[in-house]
Amino acid sequence: MDARTNAYAPYSGFTVGAAVQTKSGAVFTGCNVENASYGATICAERAALAAAVAAGERELVALVVASGAKSPTPPCGICRQCLAELTPSLPIRSYTGGARAEYDLSSLLPDAFGRDQLD
Ligand SMILES: [Zn+2]
Repeated sequence: MDARTNAYAPYSGFTVGAAVQTKSGAVFTGCNVENASYGATICAERAALAAAVAAGERELVALVVASGAKSPTPPCGICRQCLAELTPSLPIRSYTGGARAEYDLSSLLPDAFGRDQLD
C-alpha cells in the first residue's frame, strides 16, 4: 500500500503498488508509471520485478499487489509473462480495501511461453 502512494497514474487514476519478496528475504517495491504513449506504461508488478533484478535478486518467493479496485486484481497478462520468466509458480496475493485474493502464477498463466520454446 505504501508503494501505491508513489504511483504515477494521471490518465487512468488507477494506482497500484506491488512488492516482491526474494529468497534472501529482501522486499522490492514498485508502482505503476503511466505514459502519454499508453503502451509505454509500466505496471507496479514489473517495476517491483525490475527493482529486484537490478539489485541482483532473481529468486522470487512471493508477490503482493495493492490497488483501489472494487475487488482484488491479479497481474495483467504482460506481468504474468514477465514474472513467469523467473518463477513460474509464484504465490501472489492481491489486496484492495479489506478484501484479498490469492493466486498461483502457474494457474494464472498455464502453458506459459518460456525459454524451452526457444530451443
Ligand atoms: Zn501488468
